[in-house]
Amino acid sequence: MALSIETKCIHLEDEDNCKNHYGAVSFPIYQTATYAHPGAGKSTGFDYSRLQNPTREQLEKTVASLENGIDSFALSSGMAAISLLMELFSPGDNLIVDSDLYGGSIRLFDNVSAKNGIAFTRTEFCKVSDENKIENLITKNTKALYVETPTNPMMNVSDILLLSKIAKKHGLLLIVDNTFLSPYFQNPLDLGADIVVHSGTKYLGGHNDTLAGFIVTNRTDIQEKLRFLIKTTGAGLAPFDCWLILRGIKTLAVRMERAQENAFKIAKWLKENPLVDRVIYPGFSEHPGHKIMRKQARGFGAMITFQVKSQKLALSILEKVSLIRYAESLGGVETLITYPTTQTHADVPEELRIKNGITNATLRLSVGIENCEDLIKEFKRVFSQAQKEE
Ligand code: PLP
Repeated sequence: MALSIETKCIHLEDEDNCKNHYGAVSFPIYQTATYAHPGAGKSTGFDYSRLQNPTREQLEKTVASLENGIDSFALSSGMAAISLLMELFSPGDNLIVDSDLYGGSIRLFDNVSAKNGIAFTRTEFCKVSDENKIENLITKNTKALYVETPTNPMMNVSDILLLSKIAKKHGLLLIVDNTFLSPYFQNPLDLGADIVVHSGTKYLGGHNDTLAGFIVTNRTDIQEKLRFLIKTTGAGLAPFDCWLILRGIKTLAVRMERAQENAFKIAKWLKENPLVDRVIYPGFSEHPGHKIMRKQARGFGAMITFQVKSQKLALSILEKVSLIRYAESLGGVETLITYPTTQTHADVPEELRIKNGITNATLRLSVGIENCEDLIKEFKRVFSQAQKEE
């Protein structure tokens, strides 16, 4: 029986689970580094936890099932996942990457992968409306297109189906970082992507208590390469952290719905506030990516980027929040406010940051699942105190 995503978050489509593990309803944590062999040349199916661990396997099956992939790989952070992906490429290869991306991905590409001979061409995938706009960037060395949609932090939206057509025509991989929407709202593999990446630290974990990362694919050739790489490089997620993410995923559907509901209300409130110059939320019909998102996603998520009147005001807001926490990260039950310039995007060269639209007055909000009235009351207090100091 095909299960809906809400149910798949709670029950893996694997009947053996009910029979094995003494019927444990919460999947057990196999806190073991190694496994005894029943005899010479025999194996229980598990040999050493760098290669496989039952708790990690359960999590990997769950995430693969949520993203409609054939397999997924659970790693120690989102950056560990993206770093492992870079091992699919060789010196001389070129990747066309989104201009606006999580700052850590830009730092990895520019400082680590570039040193290993991989070249990156930046473009604004959100402005690609036909194949020609991107085809002139593709060279004989180009191996992949790498995109976030929506992007962190500018919430740019790209057309995954269009990019997948271009990628297929030129024999390129399409890699989509799906962190901002989670598999609950968007499944890039269904739209033709070859690989999906997640910072599992965010919505999948959902509680700001665990770092994790995922790579998901529906291609057996990539699956094989990644199994070899995870075994060889050893950044697989530890059993207890796997269990925390499994537990987080059980409530993914209700958290995403509630966070999105709050986000709509807060985005509207911010839009009406005279101290706010611009609110970037793809749920608004005037957002340039709104129509594409309606087509390719089941929701708009709970991330909002907004620009206030001045840097002084932005800093003052950060100092005054208390219920809303001034902290990096996103996707948890707690509402967090971030200052990309000095936090998530501090290592992005200033010129690129400004080109992407990140200013000293840009704030990024990850809306949580608190009572929305309490969040708006907090904003009212913070904005009115900050205004008095203007
Ligand atoms: N991708 C996106 C879109 C992110 O926002 C982040 C972190 O904020 C990462 C990847 C990296 O994930 P992690 O912090 O789990 O290493």
